[in-house]
Amino acid sequence: MAKNYEGPAIGIDLGTTYSCVAVWNDQNNRAEIIHNDQGNNTTPSFVAFTDSQRLVGDSAHNQAASNPANTIFDAKRLIGRKYSDSVIQNDMQLWPFKVVAGNDDNPVVVVHFKNEEKCFVAEEISSMILMKMREIAEKFLESEVTNAVITVPAYFNDSQRKATKDAGAIAGLNVIRILNEPTAAALAYGLQKRANCVEERNILVFDLGGGTFDVSLLTVKNNAFDVKATAGDTHLGGEDFDNRMVNHFVKEFKRKNKIDISENPKALRRMRTSCERAKRTLSFDTMASVEIDAISQGKDFRSSISRAKFEQLNMDLFAKCITTVESCLIDAVMEKSSVHDVVLVGGSSRIPKVQQLLQDFFNGIDLCMSINPDEAVAYGAAALAASYSKGFKNDIQNFVLREVTPLSLGILTNEDTMSVVIPRNTAIPTRKKKVYFTRKHSKPSALIKIYEGERTRASDNNLLGLFTIRGFPGDGRSFPFNVYFEVDDDGILTVCAEEETTGNKNEITITNDKGRLSTEQIMKMVEAAEKYKAEDKMYQKKVTAMNALEDYVDEIMNALEDSDASVNLCRLDKKKINLAIRDARNLLDNSQQKEAESFEDYLKKLECMVGPVLKID
Ligand code: AMP
Repeated sequence: MAKNYEGPAIGIDLGTTYSCVAVWNDQNNRAEIIHNDQGNNTTPSFVAFTDSQRLVGDSAHNQAASNPANTIFDAKRLIGRKYSDSVIQNDMQLWPFKVVAGNDDNPVVVVHFKNEEKCFVAEEISSMILMKMREIAEKFLESEVTNAVITVPAYFNDSQRKATKDAGAIAGLNVIRILNEPTAAALAYGLQKRANCVEERNILVFDLGGGTFDVSLLTVKNNAFDVKATAGDTHLGGEDFDNRMVNHFVKEFKRKNKIDISENPKALRRMRTSCERAKRTLSFDTMASVEIDAISQGKDFRSSISRAKFEQLNMDLFAKCITTVESCLIDAVMEKSSVHDVVLVGGSSRIPKVQQLLQDFFNGIDLCMSINPDEAVAYGAAALAASYSKGFKNDIQNFVLREVTPLSLGILTNEDTMSVVIPRNTAIPTRKKKVYFTRKHSKPSALIKIYEGERTRASDNNLLGLFTIRGFPGDGRSFPFNVYFEVDDDGILTVCAEEETTGNKNEITITNDKGRLSTEQIMKMVEAAEKYKAEDKMYQKKVTAMNALEDYVDEIMNALEDSDASVNLCRLDKKKINLAIRDARNLLDNSQQKEAESFEDYLKKLECMVGPVLKID
């Protein structure tokens, strides 16, 4: 692989619920998962806004129950979708935060931040999470990081991919590559477990995460990773299982107490957190309890759920996972008996029923659970990032990776028919040409409407963009024109149409269609992101300065209580010190409008005054 990028490069698994960052370690020849400031290898994909600050990751997650309307999660479910999309409309009913329709039907999240109403698009929320992951890596590497590989579900469509890339740009990252999550996991598996395997191995990656589900079938041989087919659902995962349990308990609470909490965001948030915990318990226990104090109108919620009940609530969703595996095999034209390894990735792949259904489907095959499902995707992304970068020496560059398009791409022809130019599961990068004809008696121009999806009727698929090609004589005859479709390594599409006789051409990179962020908008968001970053830093500096002052005041108080130290103080000194402590407390109590410097300066003053008398360092 061409090593074109200077400086460190990281791999980021931008998850629906959790994100993870990794970097390749040259010495050990393996990827290192980088832990965050809390010591955790994964960071909640949460962003929260308060009157004084913005929080990202664990700190946002920890205050979610007390600030539900301003704590944003699930940005990955929003990204690249329209507000009117039924998926968004359904999800909105369960989100405790406000989502409204913005320009071009784009969903916009509305929050209260620093006593003002602020709007953010999903790309901005995701960029905040990406920035956090970047900071985690920078702290670990002790250097600036700009290059990154970011992973997306294999089944993400063109607009979701592009929007994720935009989120990276807003976070100030140079996105080397958008990599499919199951491919990343297969890379991790292949590099860790099947390094240098000479025999061809067929690996099925089953990736069931928080919000998305992906299946990919790869063939690995001599360090070449060939994706044969991919299938999935960008809207199926752990959160759906949580939702089923939430709905179950909401009904139960209503039945028992005549109180409906379905419109109460705070209660729902608390219920969801408890259900998620119970769901995890049910992966190793057959019973889990859900207890929430004073959930609504002072009433406590106390109940329990068995594993069997949980499975019953979700059986149709679990079964859908297996059908998807089946269709992936059909697309790859492969018998299930030809699959050598079934690799489990994503937190929800820990659910016993899911594992059992999968194992039964593969006639009892041992499922491979030896790679960490939470970390495998970031691991693979870090490996790919290293393979593209100059900063890494070892043999990481020696693998080859070939991916496929997840959805068929084509244009609208007569009536409402989709004419496929690039069928799904075509290896990328790819360029295809097809000749079309203008209709008889048509105008001197032709409108090209580009769609993705598998339905015959174009309008049942996803409209990606449209443009007009002009220059036909318009004399009533039908004229040919060429249409070129090109998909790059990131799975992003460019379409070009050309009228051969006159050479008139028009081209569209689907990245620039209406409804997406323009370069100008992205630049504005980059500026805003920098501003927020600077504000966060300033706030952090202020908190550190306040803590230092508070600690010092505590030390003085302790020293004053220590009779040996205080006996040597004259009354005047004691009075001066007490006054200084009072002023420090006042300063700390009225910190709102103050900058970090006020606290730092006061600490210095206090140290000069008290240090020599009380012998505090
Ligand atoms: P991911 O997107 O891969 O980080 O997966 C996160 C999802 O996995 C969340 O919905 C979690 O609730 C779910 N999850 C994590 N651990 C478990 C477990 N032990 N059992 C069931 N679900 C889990």
